[in-house]
Formats: sequence, C-alpha cells, structure tokens
Amino acid sequence: MSDLTRLSAGGLAERLVAGEVSSVEATQAHLDRIGEVDGAVHAFLHVDAEGALTQAAEVDRRRGRGAVLHPLAGVPIAVKDLVATKGIPTTAGSRLLEGWVPPYDATIVTRLRAAGLPILGKTNMDEFAMGSSTEHSAFGPSHNPWDLARIPGGSGGGSAAAVAAFEAPLAIGTDTGGSIRQPGSVTGTVGVKPTYGGVSRYGLVALASSLDQAGPVTRTVLDAALLHELVGGHDPRDSTSIDAPMPALVDAVRGADVTGVRIGVVRELGGEGYQTGVRARFDEAVELLAGAGAEVVEVSCPHFTYGLAAYYLILPSEASSNLARYDAMRYGLRVAPDDVGHGDGPSAEDVMLATREAGFGDEAKRRIILGTYALSSGYYDAYYGSAQKVRTLVARDFAAAFERADVLVSPTTPTTAFRLGEKVDDPLAMYLNDIATLPANLAGVPGLSLPSGLADEDGLPAGFQVLAPATADDRMYRVGAVLERLLLDRWGGPLLDRAPALPGARGVPA
Ligand code: GLN
Repeated sequence: MSDLTRLSAGGLAERLVAGEVSSVEATQAHLDRIGEVDGAVHAFLHVDAEGALTQAAEVDRRRGRGAVLHPLAGVPIAVKDLVATKGIPTTAGSRLLEGWVPPYDATIVTRLRAAGLPILGKTNMDEFAMGSSTEHSAFGPSHNPWDLARIPGGSGGGSAAAVAAFEAPLAIGTDTGGSIRQPGSVTGTVGVKPTYGGVSRYGLVALASSLDQAGPVTRTVLDAALLHELVGGHDPRDSTSIDAPMPALVDAVRGADVTGVRIGVVRELGGEGYQTGVRARFDEAVELLAGAGAEVVEVSCPHFTYGLAAYYLILPSEASSNLARYDAMRYGLRVAPDDVGHGDGPSAEDVMLATREAGFGDEAKRRIILGTYALSSGYYDAYYGSAQKVRTLVARDFAAAFERADVLVSPTTPTTAFRLGEKVDDPLAMYLNDIATLPANLAGVPGLSLPSGLADEDGLPAGFQVLAPATADDRMYRVGAVLERLLLDRWGGPLLDRAPALPGARGVPA
C-alpha cells in the first residue's frame, strides 16, 4: 500500500470518503515510509505511531457509523515541533525544552484532532525557529530529499522535508521571516504564510510575536487551501486573531482564473544576487500567467532594501523578551552548577545562568544578546526605534504596490538549496535567504510559495512567491492554482516525481 503516500491529501481524502481505503491503512503507510526513509532525511524529532493509529481507528469507526466528517478526516499530518501537543514532547529544536511534554494542545492541534487528522509526529526545526537550514537544531539537521547533502531550508525544514519525502501528505509550519516559504522553495513543495492573525498562535512557542504565523506545508495548492481553512479563523484565545470570516480559499482554488488579474513583479526582489536558474524559472512562470490572461506590471518597493536590517533588529528584540521565560524554573532543562565560586551553594541566578549556557545554542545566544542590546536604554531609539520606522515604510510600499496590482510576485528565495555546512558559520549569508520572504512578515500580509521548476545549473527546485494584501489570502491561492495547473501541463506530472529515490525506500539500499 506504499502508493498511498504518493497521493495528495485531497486525493487521499477522496479515497477515504469512497471507502476504498481506511485511515488506519493510510496512516500505517506513512508510518512505514517514515520507518524506511527518515533515517536518511531526519525530518522527525518524534514519531507518535501509537497515537496516530489510535486517532485513525477512531476516524474509521466514526465514518463506519455514517458520521458527517471533515473533508480531510483520516488524512495524517506532521506538526512542527514548536506547536504544543498534549502528551507529545515539544522541544522547539532546543535542549532547553528537551523532555517537556505540554499539558495542553495549541488551538491548531485542537482543530486538527477535532477534524480527525491523525498526528504522525513532530518535525525538526532550527532552535526556536531561528535559521534557514535546520542546522541550528540541537538534534542535528534534516536533509533535503532532492540531495541529502543539502539543506531542506529552515527553520521548518523538517516539515518541508517530510512532505517532499512522502512521509506525510500534510504538515504544519510557522513563518516568522520565511520559515514556511523558504523550505517550500528549496524542497519543491507548497508553503503558505497566512495573513498575520489569520491562524491562531495560541500554543505556539513564540519567537517574535508580531511576526510569527503558522500555516500549511503541502504538495499541492488545493491541499494548502484545505488545511488553511481547517486551522484558520478566529480564536478568542489569541488576542491578535482576526475576528472576521476568512475568505473562501478552497473555492478560490477550484474556480481559479487569472483573466484580468493584475500581477505586480517586484523590481527589488530579483536581478542581482538571484541565481540564473531561479530567475529563468520565475520569468517563465510570469509569462505563463500573462498567457493565461493576467496583466503583468512592474512595481517598485524601494524600502524592501532595508527590510532585512529592520527584521534582524525587530526579531532579536522580540525574541530576547520571549526567550526570557526559559529561566530554569518553569519548563524544561535545569542545570545546577557544581562550583559557583562562593560558599553558599547555587543561587537562582547561578542556576539560570548555567541552564541558559548549556541549553541555548549559539544562534539563540547571538539573537538574545543582539536583541537585549537593541532594546537597552540609550540604544533603543537608534536601533529598535529606527527598525520600527522602516517597518512602517515597508508596509507603505506594499500599500502603494497593491494600488497598482492585485498580487505581487517574486522568486521565493534567491538560490536553490545550498550544501549543509556551507553557511552555518556565516550568519549574514544565512540571513540573506529570507530577503524576499521577510517583507511580508514585517507588513503582516500573506505569502504563498509554489515550485516553479528545476534550475538548469543544479537540477534543484526553485520557488515562486505570490503575495496578497492582508485578509485577501484567496487571491494568492487563485494565482497559485492557475500557475500550478499550467506548470503541471508543461512538466507532464508533479515536479516531485523527478526527485531521486531515497536510501531505505523499497528497492533502494539503505
Ligand atoms: N530564517 C529566518 C530567521 O532565521 C526566518 C525564521 C522563521 O521564519 N522562523 O529568522
């Protein structure tokens, strides 16, 4: 039954509804696939086989009794390891939270469970979602299924790798500066950062609260819309949650047409610094959309140039404040130092210091120090204050661009997947991965990434990003669905069918 893992979530859901396959069979097929290939991919930090099969059996029972179920009921899913899951360990990729088992579910998880999606396990990530490669995970990196020597993106590389390696048809990611879209781009999968406030943050380990947003990681645009509609919508437990109906996303995909849609190519997100093959696939995709009746215009967002600098002041500032809760008293790790240099035994401060020293990795420490500095008196106006002003200018650039275009488009990332180890010692090079994705987080607007093809020079996936105004998430699904259809026609099948077989997969030596 291993072919069950090749189906889209929507396709699998149809077979479940038709009674051709049970959720237990579908869930077991994915657990088997995880058993075969995850030794090589390392997408998962924790696999909950028993829990997933119990949930699957329950859905099968309810379906057998004729209950009316959610369209995705019975389709298994993987969840990024910073989403609180009751009874299932949640580490956020950090030693500091190793062994923490949340006593409650995040709202997203409550909704997944209520709809009957068995949770396969928790996916690997850069520590506290800081990074673009999963190399900052305390538990070792994930590998890109297209080339195991390369990064699967980050911070949510585990979710993207799981979906690209057919270990899960669906996954949940979070995107603070690009952590859903950049992994999507480099693994040939679809990733969506919803409008800020569109999906509840209740129960998510916070990185930068004004930027964080959870969303779907899938292999098709329709699957992303199905999952987005399921987890999105108002949540009274999140004070930043939008208290208004979500636009119809699945309908936007199903009836998708781009006739007369104004597509704005962002001048500042392209050109120099973007890999030739990434640019070529992007230009072809824009031509395809124009051929389908879209009106293509060029727009300029001059302040995007300062977006990266502003982001790397605002994010560390918020992170330094959010991560202050890891004080060795309330959750996770507690290290008692032996030798404290005074005779009274360790004080609370000594324990806090030793715990943070041992528990946080280098990148987390770097950002805590940077953020604390940027917020300190005397420097606050010069750094944090200036960054906030730039943030406003970026939002104004979006507003002006959306006067001239219904959606904006760009390559999702400047390059295809780089090699593991290539940038891990060069933070600035690592940060540049998010140059095209982070403006959306600064402004709170939604972004979708879908594969645009393989770059000629390395044969690796490139990504196409569609951005829409806040709360108009349906627009990016409409454009994404049309482009996906045109590209599938051109390729003659899904891009991921061209990815190499993984070691451990049936018929392939481990
Ligand atoms: N790579 C970016 C960073 O390191 C984005 C992270 C994210 O979206 N969580 O901050």
